[in-house]
Amino acid sequence: MESKTNQPTKCNDCMVCLCPMNELDHTVITNCRHIFHTECISTWYDSTKQTNKFNCPACRQSLFSTPKTINETPVSNNTICTYFNGNIMEGERNNGEFTGPCKKTYADGDNMFHAGDVLEGEFKNDEFIGPCKQTYEDGNVLEGEYKNDEFIGPCKLTYEDDGTVLEGEKKNGVFTGPCKLTYADDGTVLEGERKNGDWNGLCKYTFINENPIPKSYKYEETILEGEMKNGEWNGQFKRTKQTVGIYREVYEGEKKNGEWIGQIKWTYVHERLKINKVADCEVKKGFMKFKYKYHNGTPVFQYDKKCNLIKKFDSIKSCAKSLKTGRHQITNRLKNIKCCDTARYPANYYLNQHVFTTTII
Ligand SMILES: [Zn+2]
Ligand SMILES: [Zn+2]
Repeated sequence: MESKTNQPTKCNDCMVCLCPMNELDHTVITNCRHIFHTECISTWYDSTKQTNKFNCPACRQSLFSTPKTINETPVSNNTICTYFNGNIMEGERNNGEFTGPCKKTYADGDNMFHAGDVLEGEFKNDEFIGPCKQTYEDGNVLEGEYKNDEFIGPCKLTYEDDGTVLEGEKKNGVFTGPCKLTYADDGTVLEGERKNGDWNGLCKYTFINENPIPKSYKYEETILEGEMKNGEWNGQFKRTKQTVGIYREVYEGEKKNGEWIGQIKWTYVHERLKINKVADCEVKKGFMKFKYKYHNGTPVFQYDKKCNLIKKFDSIKSCAKSLKTGRHQITNRLKNIKCCDTARYPANYYLNQHVFTTTII
């Protein structure tokens, strides 16, 4: 039953055109209970667009949430309602108020919503509240708790194009604090701090290498760790490439705008081959230039196919003598081992050198 206060104010003339209302005219009854010709209030809306203030011509109350749907009254229970700003609301209504599971399609963009975005969830006391889902106009989906007109607390953003997922806390409309991004296609994970809508702070990026890896390795992973500024590596940086239990290669240094700068410390540890090397290198024109040099006095190690150590030679000279070959041939083979593994020798065995020995990190 409609109460008396829900009745529109008795007024014979439309306050926009000052013409009398006809019973057959299409009318709009505002939330403030004023009545206008639909066409007149639409013209009024258009004329106020610039100022972003769409107020009732009679009482100055904001009319943005006034339904535009023809002949809809403030107590209408139509399940679809179009508002003057173009937003569309769908759901159950009670005495004109949307209540229960609802869906709102946005027509106008603002900070949080773009035209075409859809917000779904529980609507109560004139607002969405509780677990909600926002489907962006581009298909990305945001899920989480909604309160005071925004997502707040633990949220999950799923990218439409490949199913990549960003998880973390939302604060002031952006992911803030510890977050995790999981790429759907290869399981690559980026974990770290977010601030001002981007990665800022300590971050860690882990991915399983796509490159062909030696058969004996189950998998090879690369871990990038360091400081990020606005989504790019800036500051101390460490890159680890490893197969846990077999080998580990680490580059440590500094990055600026995503690029290595200055000196880099390189460490290579091969647990099976019992290799443990450290060297400094420098980035020049995008290439790493190692500072160490193989020389005669460095021991050479000989391994079999299964990486068992066969023999240790005190120098390239003694190795060459034992293998009945030239010193420069051994040197050339060892030179070709750029930074890891062993040099294959024709007679089914492998060679390597310990350049510097350190404790395993
Ligand atoms: Zn009028
Ligand atoms: Zn009014």
